[in-house]
Amino acid sequence: MAKEDIELIKNGKRLDGRKFDELREIKIEVGVLSRAMGSAYIEWGKNKVIAAVYGPRELHPKYLRDPRRAHLRCIYNLAPFSVEDRKRPGPDRRSVEISKVSSDALSSVVMLEKYPNTVIDIFIEILQADAGTRCAGLNAASVALADAGIPMRDIVSSCAAGKVNGEIVLDLMKEEDNLGECDLPVAIIPRKKEVVLLQMDGKLTREEFKKAYELAVDGAMRVYKMQKEALISSVNDVIIGE
Ligand code: ADP
Repeated sequence: MAKEDIELIKNGKRLDGRKFDELREIKIEVGVLSRAMGSAYIEWGKNKVIAAVYGPRELHPKYLRDPRRAHLRCIYNLAPFSVEDRKRPGPDRRSVEISKVSSDALSSVVMLEKYPNTVIDIFIEILQADAGTRCAGLNAASVALADAGIPMRDIVSSCAAGKVNGEIVLDLMKEEDNLGECDLPVAIIPRKKEVVLLQMDGKLTREEFKKAYELAVDGAMRVYKMQKEALISSVNDVIIGE
């Protein structure tokens, strides 16, 4: 059976009952790890992701130091127990790619020039995966950076859209990601709507791309609101002493 023949949409609804432009449920917690400078936990549908920030701290080996700015090092890791079939532990091509694109996206908002010769380490640990983990990881990492008090121009907000059974839909879950026609993760700097990550797995026509891109940006703007709310309530908790 061809991929597009697998029924992922029935009577105008998706497998989990969502509308085409509906996000999965999202919950963000700030400051979940006491040993990290900053941290955040995000539940996004069935995805469960922790991000932890350490630094700015001394960078070793020394030859990697940059006298003009800090080095931002993001490491994305899919835990062996995070997927249905156990994943072999350790880095692979996919995690190296996601670590690289996440480092690049976050480097565009962090004021690296304030901390020359140092490194800012960001660990993104995927505890449970159900598609969209790079977006969830970026959103958690941005909140963790803010929690660490690291100066940023803005935060990064991310969401994917894609094509499933010929329809453009927001925020693909695993069955849609695996069996659908295309996945388009996008990350933006919300205030400027500047794109800092754009990847495409599959094919879209020019019109479909425009529709999916706009839907993903709209999703990212909704996530931005939730990131801000989570950060504000974490600050209020500290002030009120909860
Ligand atoms: P993203 O999680 O950002 O959507 P992919 O599109 O590469 O990234 O992966 C989609 C989903 O496929 C993941 O969220 C995860 O549920 C599953 N997956 C990815 N890699 C593996 C793996 N090595 N073993 C099993 N499942 C995996």
